[in-house]
Amino acid sequence: MSKYNHRSAIVTGGSRGIGAAVVRALAKEGLGVVIADIRDAEGLQLADELGSGVSFHHLDVTMESDWSRALEAAESDHGPLAVLVNNAGILDIGGVTEVHRPIFRHVLDVNLYGAWLGMHSAAPLLARAGGGVIINVSSTAGLMGYSGIAAYVASKWGLRGLTKAAALDLAPAGIRVCSVHPGPIRTPMTAGLDDSLVATQPIPRFGEPDEVAAMIRFVAMEATYSTGSEFVVDGGATTGAILATPETHSDSPIGL
Ligand code: NAP
Repeated sequence: MSKYNHRSAIVTGGSRGIGAAVVRALAKEGLGVVIADIRDAEGLQLADELGSGVSFHHLDVTMESDWSRALEAAESDHGPLAVLVNNAGILDIGGVTEVHRPIFRHVLDVNLYGAWLGMHSAAPLLARAGGGVIINVSSTAGLMGYSGIAAYVASKWGLRGLTKAAALDLAPAGIRVCSVHPGPIRTPMTAGLDDSLVATQPIPRFGEPDEVAAMIRFVAMEATYSTGSEFVVDGGATTGAILATPETHSDSPIGL
């Protein structure tokens, strides 16, 4: 029996993409899961498919009243809160000199303020339940810079830093807080992106939502000695720069 039986989890942006894979993975662990998203139709369909252990509640992560309602619903549907996954996020194109003011603010609002509001709202419930875990879905864009997506990079570095602040602040209440950093993953968010983006990575393919969900499941269920920590799922994208192509290594003893 899972240590989180009769306890609940809430996954923001859980209607599709990485969030939907996380919902499935946590439900398999015996947690009652709330899908919390602005995409009502897809969220309701997923909840319907997964049965009574999973429910959908509309949540815009930037709205305080939505958080109160969704957290109350998580506890009344499934039991005391154990896990919060701040996964909802948006990506907008625009470099430092191109991005428009309202877009810059909106990306920070959803990706950073929304995650803070989630932690701020959920921490008292987790503390009352004797502790739990918060997982913030950042990105490799929270570990390095990327051109052309300035607001996104700022939001994901912010979330990485906020994770460390929260890990320190919430440790006395028995709450672990970690960040997960996916590289390019095949989801609706990356639908327009071409395979050339991943061609030079050590693992030269897009990742699958289930591969990120497996890491998030691990952080939630197994990583009991980790807090404030960064967990990377990126096909090696942030490992370093490749200075030579495999052909130039023809004298390699293992044939590379
Ligand atoms: P996705 O397919 O676009 O799914 C994200 C979900 O969050 C969507 O249902 C989206 O609704 C919802 N959402 C957007 N704004 C919201 C809000 N204010 N409140 C609640 N829900 C909201 O994205 P994904 O690729 O699964 O990404 C999930 C997370 O992983 C994001 O934080 C993303 O930045 C991060 N990530 C993704 C990748 C990747 O390659 N896919 C890489 C690194 C990090 P709408 O579709 O209506 O916006």
